[in-house]
Amino acid sequence: MAAMPVRLNVLFNALLFVPLLISSGYSNPERDMGIYTELPAHLSEVDVIVAGGGTAGCVFASRLSDAHPELSILIIERGSNNDDDAAVDNPLFWLTNVMTASSRMLIYHGADEPQIGNRAVDIFTGSVLGGGSSINCMAYSRAQSGAMDEWRIPGWGAKDLWPYMKKIETYNDKSGSPDIHGYDGPLQITGNGAWGPTRLQDEVLKAAAGQGYPEAVDLQDMDTVNAFQRCHRYIDSQGKRQNAAHAYLHPRLKDGKHPNLHVLTQHHVLRALIEGGKAVGVEIVRNTDASGTRSGGSSTDKTTVGARKMVAVTAGNFGSPQILERSGVGDSEVLAQAGIETAVDLPGVGGNLQDHLGFFTSYLSGLPSNETYNGIINGSVSLHDMLERHDKKIGWTAYEVTSRLRPSDSEVHRMGRKFEAAWKEDFGRDPTKTAAVLATYGGYYSPNLPTNLSNELFSVAGFVAYPRSRGSIHVTGPSFSDAPRLVTGYLNDESGFDTQLMVWMYKKQREMIRRMPTYRGEYCPDHPSFPEGSDAACVTVDGPVPEDAPDIKYTAGDDKAIEAWCRKVVASHSHSVGTCKMGSQQEGGVLDEHLNVHGVQGLKVVDLSIAPSTVQSNSANLAFTIGEKAADIVSGEFLGEANRI
Ligand SMILES: Cc1cc2nc3c(=O)[nH]c(=O)nc-3n(C[C@H](O)[C@H](O)[C@H](O)COP(=O)(O)OP(=O)(O)OC[C@H]3O[C@@H](n4cnc5c(N)ncnc54)[C@H](O)[C@@H]3O)c2cc1C
Repeated sequence: MAAMPVRLNVLFNALLFVPLLISSGYSNPERDMGIYTELPAHLSEVDVIVAGGGTAGCVFASRLSDAHPELSILIIERGSNNDDDAAVDNPLFWLTNVMTASSRMLIYHGADEPQIGNRAVDIFTGSVLGGGSSINCMAYSRAQSGAMDEWRIPGWGAKDLWPYMKKIETYNDKSGSPDIHGYDGPLQITGNGAWGPTRLQDEVLKAAAGQGYPEAVDLQDMDTVNAFQRCHRYIDSQGKRQNAAHAYLHPRLKDGKHPNLHVLTQHHVLRALIEGGKAVGVEIVRNTDASGTRSGGSSTDKTTVGARKMVAVTAGNFGSPQILERSGVGDSEVLAQAGIETAVDLPGVGGNLQDHLGFFTSYLSGLPSNETYNGIINGSVSLHDMLERHDKKIGWTAYEVTSRLRPSDSEVHRMGRKFEAAWKEDFGRDPTKTAAVLATYGGYYSPNLPTNLSNELFSVAGFVAYPRSRGSIHVTGPSFSDAPRLVTGYLNDESGFDTQLMVWMYKKQREMIRRMPTYRGEYCPDHPSFPEGSDAACVTVDGPVPEDAPDIKYTAGDDKAIEAWCRKVVASHSHSVGTCKMGSQQEGGVLDEHLNVHGVQGLKVVDLSIAPSTVQSNSANLAFTIGEKAADIVSGEFLGEANRI
């Protein structure tokens, strides 16, 4: 998902002031034991430090604490505790979590990039206990099996990861199969469009079927492609968000059986301390930043915490490479420029940044206001009131119908020789590989918020599922006041593949949407500026085109307009991976398959940064899975160690 526009943020701030003072009513009223905002003296040295209390970090630390009660484990998280927080527990509040001013978010500001019109892209991440899983829009989406096999990392193929993907979930959809899904895991998955606007979902599915994309029985079976489905969600039967902290961490902190598990919130991990080639602890600073932006807000008082056995860096795809670089682990040239002494020259750190890049576009809709969430955007409905009167809509996630798509052979051919060559290389061998995802929202979501949202609008997101564009993130100095340099690399691939795929997605979704019964035209600010007289020009209408209407005829000028628009609007869909990838050093790898940082003992990375490439799905599922798998790896290593003694 992309950043919310600032005007919208201001509005949400006003709406949120009151509700966030009240409890969610969801959490166990007993206080968590073991959560601190100041480091207690008895935790100045522990066995395992988990640097980042996000999605993978919470899963990893929790499972490890089960397997090894003899180890003291300390999670250090820059954000706050997420327990009893209404904006975390209640799904529709996720919209408020993408506010620039929200302290639950950490925004990485990109550099100006010439290929996208010298624009700087902002990328949002979660910064609260539970990380992205506490603030995201809860779409349940699993990796395609071929994606993990393609990594060619021993122990990380589809058949290796599938058991963990089942272990994390309780799949509450009767049409699912136990061969494919899990039924007794900590995360409740609520199925097939529950908690959402049914009419919109029905219309999208019918229109998609008319375009040759049927409704899938199970879009998350890890192989299905060229189909749509109502979104499954990380929500329980009461309509409450499922996140890594509530599903894994808080129950253990409250059950009295995990005195070994501790959490320090509101502290940054600055760097790992490396002595004699081994990680022996971390340096931390208090986070006094309430705004959620990256720069400023940290105190300068540094403290160290010792790690007798291991430091696991779990600060996410943007945080983890920075911790490594500040520790002296990274490309020696980058480190020299940042004034950091090199401990291990690892050029792969911070590179290989891959993200689901794409667009948001919007339409006028004949749906009445009670069938969209727009009331909370235009201020006619308050989230506070909805919460008070137990309005079921508070359980909506906004993300309604999703898909996995590939252009047909003839479409690939029509996209030109360069595109076709890239297609054959990346997609030719695996017919289940997802190229593109189109998803429909139950209301307005786009960077061009109208000042007066009088029409009912809804938005469509389109993202490139397996992009060729590559970016990077690197530190520019040794301290937190040195903002990192983030280059997204969006649309920088020489083949033009990602741009062409965005153009294809734009055309596909238009043909679908204009056939929906409640379609009332395009919302112009969120569409390309087509040349005068274009067949593709935005219109305002009373109803849809007939199902058998001819498709829009795009001229070369129209295609240029769509391409220009793609460069103007391309945005992050917040699923980035790859900045500390597994692989050999020769291939730019940072970690071995046991997640050890090359060249340093006792230092691992456990989050989405370890993935060599995107897995063609929204990314939370992979983060949960990585947390589970990493806990097994480390647990086995500690058992082996104990047996050796
Ligand atoms: C707005 C938004 C919507 C999304 N929607 C979906 C969705 O619907 N479905 C889906 O599958 N995925 C979604 N995602 C993506 C998904 O939530 C994330 O990719 C995933 O949660 C990342 O997991 P992680 O463990 O790698 O990192 P994170 O969960 O981001 O965890 C990293 C943690 O480290 C902390 N941290 C960072 N730096 C430091 C430091 N120096 N010291 C201490 N702590 C630090 C952070 O505060 C954070 O808590 C969304 C993401 C966003 C931002």
